[in-house]
Amino acid sequence: MRRSAALLALSVSLAAAAAPSVEVIPARAKPGDPVLVVVRGAKALPTGTVGTHEASFYSRGDDAEALVPLPIEQEPGLLEVRVTTGGESLRAPLEVLPPEFRERKLTVPSKYVRPPASARAQIKADGVAFQKAWATPLHPRAFTDNFQKPRDAVITAYFGDHRTYNGKKLNTHYALDLDGATGEEIRAANDGRVILVRPCYYSGNTVLVDHGAGLITAYFHMSKFLVKQGQEVRRGDLLGLVGKTGRVTGPHLHFGAHLGSLWVNPQALLALPFPGASSPLETFPPPEAPDAGTPDGGSPDAGRR
Ligand SMILES: [Zn+2]
Repeated sequence: MRRSAALLALSVSLAAAAAPSVEVIPARAKPGDPVLVVVRGAKALPTGTVGTHEASFYSRGDDAEALVPLPIEQEPGLLEVRVTTGGESLRAPLEVLPPEFRERKLTVPSKYVRPPASARAQIKADGVAFQKAWATPLHPRAFTDNFQKPRDAVITAYFGDHRTYNGKKLNTHYALDLDGATGEEIRAANDGRVILVRPCYYSGNTVLVDHGAGLITAYFHMSKFLVKQGQEVRRGDLLGLVGKTGRVTGPHLHFGAHLGSLWVNPQALLALPFPGASSPLETFPPPEAPDAGTPDGGSPDAGRR
């Protein structure tokens, strides 16, 4: 009898240990942020949603993860994260905070607003190259550490800045602009593979790095490439040098992060504590007052889909 009771206790504790659980990192996020959904003890590759956005899971050891973009239009409030794994349903809350995006008025020559007809073919070809990069099939994340700044520099434009020109809304800035002089270093934000090295009309000399998890980081306006397409890179490896190629008025790094089908806030990516990572999280000094800055239209589909 005692033996069977002990077996029963053992099987109960095993069942308890094997019960899957879900965690959302961070538990509070802003529109445009990436959030990591971690399913521990997943019995099968989970499916799930964050609000109305589908989560695409990959396996990672005994766990499963999905890195999910919060759309920039996401209404603040409480969202439910729903996950199904091996017939079990799990729930977790995610608090969406107000975004506090900024407006910037631009005063630039009109040539920066409308590209010449002669540029159309290149703009179209650039768009095709970006779409091909965004279509990279989902695979597990290729990095273990947290993300690092590609340059240790001051932010000159934030993710979500709305730009107006002549009173018209021109575009939204879907990246971080980091200050720099031509020739200064740009480093990989994390481990991954270079999937695009291309001179583009809007984004100038452009490098895209695929990190897995559906996440691709973008580095625009370089003066010089220091990597080749297909090359594996480690966190901190040199990718190229700061420049002012493409549609810009001065040298800087436009640093973007593309997740699934949306651009996400690189600052939130840098602040995301990945399970198992050992590096400290990156922080920036508090924002200064907005100024006119350098207009860059972003990628040819700086549009987000
Ligand atoms: Zn920019």
